[in-house]
Amino acid sequence: MIFEVRNVTYRYPGGHGGPAVAGVTLSIGSGELVAVVGPNGSGKTTLLRLLLGTLEPQSGEVLAFGRRATEWKRRDLARRIGVVSQREEAAFPLRVKQAVLFGRYPHLGPLGAPGVNDIAAVDRALQRCDVAHLSDRWIATLSGGEWQRVRVARALAQEPRALALDEATASLDIRHEMEVFELTAQLVSENNLAGVLVTHQVNLAARFADRLVVMHRGSARASGPPGTVLSDTVLEEVFEWPVAMTQWEGVPQFVPLRKSSSSSSSEHQK
Ligand code: ADP
Ligand code: MG
Repeated sequence: MIFEVRNVTYRYPGGHGGPAVAGVTLSIGSGELVAVVGPNGSGKTTLLRLLLGTLEPQSGEVLAFGRRATEWKRRDLARRIGVVSQREEAAFPLRVKQAVLFGRYPHLGPLGAPGVNDIAAVDRALQRCDVAHLSDRWIATLSGGEWQRVRVARALAQEPRALALDEATASLDIRHEMEVFELTAQLVSENNLAGVLVTHQVNLAARFADRLVVMHRGSARASGPPGTVLSDTVLEEVFEWPVAMTQWEGVPQFVPLRKSSSSSSSEHQK
């Protein structure tokens, strides 16, 4: 197992109300793509921070590559896990090539100068994420979809053994969102990575991920393969909104109902 989360609970210091993550158990192996889904504030990002060892749980334990996540030197863990976080301003005046080279930072020697291996890894990542033609562009000039693919390329240039994306498609249109989901799923299987995809796009998660964890107020309300996890009961409880279920290519998909018509439509489905 690459990640093992055992009955983990985390409460932010000074946080109001209950814990942000409560009694969650989860394991992710190589070549597996696990999606963490759930509404805003349900604990998805906190769970990811626990996986990455940037937060220490008050109870339970998180193992990454067989060792407690918080015990890793940050640089050593950064070599193994590529992360594409929720938000990142293209704040510095960098060319795409340089931005992706930053992914090599945890690998660079004491002088910090990139070698032929680093340059080759950057070139491969640029090609694989279909952004090589953007190499010399300033990152501030990229569209949202281009910038996200460049960020995935930077994570890939690390040559990680695990890849974690947190709402990385949240502001993208359909094509660019689909491209990031397709790319993530392909990278996970091609490179035998442990993949974690945090998203509130339940329907897409169900189509791309091997397993889902449905978060609700810090707890894992359901987890397992999409077909066993997604139901109107679970989704209505978690998203607090009426839904109807359907199928696409054998995978459950949901349709949020209009409240005014929900009772008749959901009757119709049953
Ligand atoms: P999600 O990613 O699913 O939207 P989060 O993990 O960010 O949810 O948040 C879970 C809960 O923890 C929320 O109630 C949120 O307000 C709270 N929370 C998140 N970050 C902090 C923080 N730094 N300090 C205090 N509370 C936080
Ligand atoms: Mg979040």
